[in-house]
Amino acid sequence: MALSTVNPATGKTEIIIDPHSPEEVDARIAEAHDAVQALRSTTFDQRAEWMRAAAAILDDQAEGLGELITVEMGKPIAQSVAEVHKSAKALRFYADNSAGFLADALVDDPSTVGASRAWTRYEPLGVVLAVMPWNYPLWQVIRFAAPALMAGNAGLLKHASNVPQSALFLDTLFERAGFPAGSFRTLLIGGADVGRVIADSRVKAVTLTGSEPAGRSVASIAGDHIKKAVLELGGSDPFVVLASADVVRAVEVAVRARINNNGQSCIAGKRFIVHTDVYDEFAERFTMAMAALVVGDPLDPATEVGPLATADGRADLAELVDDARARGARILTGGKSLDGAGWFYAPTVIADLPDDARLVQEEAFGPVASLYRAADNDDALRIANQTTFGLSSAVWTTDPDEQEWFVENLDAGAVFVNGMTVSYQELPFGGIKRSGFGRELAAVGQREFCNLKTVWKA
Ligand code: NAP
Repeated sequence: MALSTVNPATGKTEIIIDPHSPEEVDARIAEAHDAVQALRSTTFDQRAEWMRAAAAILDDQAEGLGELITVEMGKPIAQSVAEVHKSAKALRFYADNSAGFLADALVDDPSTVGASRAWTRYEPLGVVLAVMPWNYPLWQVIRFAAPALMAGNAGLLKHASNVPQSALFLDTLFERAGFPAGSFRTLLIGGADVGRVIADSRVKAVTLTGSEPAGRSVASIAGDHIKKAVLELGGSDPFVVLASADVVRAVEVAVRARINNNGQSCIAGKRFIVHTDVYDEFAERFTMAMAALVVGDPLDPATEVGPLATADGRADLAELVDDARARGARILTGGKSLDGAGWFYAPTVIADLPDDARLVQEEAFGPVASLYRAADNDDALRIANQTTFGLSSAVWTTDPDEQEWFVENLDAGAVFVNGMTVSYQELPFGGIKRSGFGRELAAVGQREFCNLKTVWKA
């Protein structure tokens, strides 16, 4: 299969890139395997220096890289440039903190285990494969690569087929920054070729960010070969607004939570569950704000919502909305693809969804918000948890008891109180239920791809 950049704002094919042959893939795995040996003799300080050099490259090239991201997947240019700087920040974060995150830890009283000294140590696993999505072409990869390389692992990237130029930029980034050749390599392959790479004995683990079907396939192949896997899959995050909430502020943040990245974010608020006491006010303000968004050319700084990344993605989203409409849901604004070139979809608010609408269970990967009226707090929680996903969540209330109750009872990998979910390198990131398993970011994300070795000394 060919990998290509097709500009989602115009529908024009910008470039077609040939995939790697099986021999080229093999050579790259061999290079990564050799790099693991080379990395063994490097220190945290050395790797940190190279990480900081990689961060400087990103910051220096932020404008050009931002434009590339926008041309490849369509997000508004300011968000693309911000993604580049955010990635640079994560590289520096792991440069600064890895030695501490992975430091040996002494057992306080070794005599209890009959030792003179006992401790634990984190060691790299070796070559780790990362299968990544197109929605944050740089950030998703960097948040894997920075902790993995700082731990002494080598990385192989199988990026989404529609962002090959971003993938090729990443192919050379770490080597340019000083890392040994092969420490990080891109494999230009399709999803069907991933299994062979996971099965290779030189590859020790795999992480995938993407859809449920892809996750199921990758995890089952990893399971067959008894290899560690981390899965970051989809989400249909609840954004709960209770009676005491500041509705004006909640609406402002709800709009951002829904349309950030043209609505194509796993942690976007997708289901807006509003207490009946404030529902009407919220629905009116939210609908007005969604209808007023500026949709258009993502390279124009005034644009707030660009196109969907692919024609298929837009068709899938339109199908979900059409299904809801056909089952009796009310479209408060939007609800249609926009005419003309590119894969634009109108920012949409849908209310009165019947239980059998696909949107109740499935993820809307685009600027489509579902509104739910909750009779009381119990009802709000019931609706929030009635999904197979469990990535993140948000709850808006000024009542400390309600805050605590929702923090305790929301089935999700994270709860943001009076805010929207954002990924920060300082905070663990990941889900439960069908949103996946394992964690990225912070110390815990770095340790996922390490061997925690216990040492006991007589
Ligand atoms: P996708 O189709 O699963 O693609 C993601 C990656 O998996 C791509 O590199 C893709 O390659 C590859 N892939 C697809 N099928 C595969 C298979 N059977 N075996 C191995 N690799 C396979 O995902 P998407 O629909 O483009 O991306 C959006 C999804 O990712 C959404 O569900 C979103 O919520 C989720 N996501 C989750 C997070 C998170 O952190 N939890 C973050 C961002 C996105 P090709 O491009 O070559 O098909």
